[in-house]
Amino acid sequence: MTVTSVTARVPAKINLQLAVGPLRSDGYHGLVTVFHAVSLFDEVTVAAAAADRVTVAGEGADQVPADGDNLALRAVRALRETITGRDGVAPDAGGRGGAAVSIRKRIPVAGGLAGGSADAAAALVACNALWQAELSQQDLCEVAGRVGSDVAFAVVGGTAVGRGRGEQLTQALVAPVTYHWVLAFADGPLSTPAVYGTLDRLRGNAAVGEPELSAELMTALRAGDAGRLGAALSNDLQAPALAMFPALGKTLAAGREFGALGALVSGSGPTCFFLARDDRHATDLAVALSGEGVCRSVVKATGAVPGASLIAR
Ligand code: ATP
Repeated sequence: MTVTSVTARVPAKINLQLAVGPLRSDGYHGLVTVFHAVSLFDEVTVAAAAADRVTVAGEGADQVPADGDNLALRAVRALRETITGRDGVAPDAGGRGGAAVSIRKRIPVAGGLAGGSADAAAALVACNALWQAELSQQDLCEVAGRVGSDVAFAVVGGTAVGRGRGEQLTQALVAPVTYHWVLAFADGPLSTPAVYGTLDRLRGNAAVGEPELSAELMTALRAGDAGRLGAALSNDLQAPALAMFPALGKTLAAGREFGALGALVSGSGPTCFFLARDDRHATDLAVALSGEGVCRSVVKATGAVPGASLIAR
């Protein structure tokens, strides 16, 4: 039977640790990061079409490119090239090898939650099904690595250690515990390259060592100990994000005051996340943060959740 339309949903990520090494000669920084997928999902539908196109709806849709720069469309093209290379012919869904991609966004754009990478991962998983290409998850991760540094993690999900630019992934050894998070969205975006630029300026000529995985964090995850996990959260991009967006200091302070076990800027920000003791505490924290007026909006989320997965076909 020819499949004509497939939908995948894909989670946002937070970084439980983000350690940034010195600026390399290729313009990138070496990273060690611990990714954690949380239950805030975008949905991506792909349908057979004569040519590739994309539409975007939902949270921040007007800030997302609706052309070939869209990461989901770049992922579609990268997957098509891979399949064409393998089979010697382009994929064909009932004679219509193009993909009409519709993205429904809930993950804020430029929020430090890798929403664009998430959409790319969902597009890969959905097109793999639409074109009945049967690439393994590992093969999809290889394609993902060519599209962007966070895309492979969005394919896999869970909790994973990322090295290199974040694309070299190893699943973390973790206790099967569900953590309760509150995400506080800020009023406005932060550009990832600009935050890295500020980090370099703040560091100046100081010697910067190679990034190292936090032993405390990994022990806490293995033990499933939320208290230790909260205390071990760390992010080298937090200082530059705070320098560029000082209001985030108040957001983090408010969360700590209301008993969060840990409070951190996610990735390059400006989203802040807080670890709660349980679901009820997460609700209390979310209500308190909203009431304090220290962010645009809040959501509760649990983690870790699986990566991009099919929800309809
Ligand atoms: P990064 O992954 O670089 O840390 P982020 O999580 O802060 O980024 P994203 O939501 O991924 O932010 O958006 C970064 C930029 O990517 C946006 O400013 C947008 O122009 C571009 N972009 C391309 N495709 C998408 C997409 N499908 N969804 C969101 N942004 C996209």
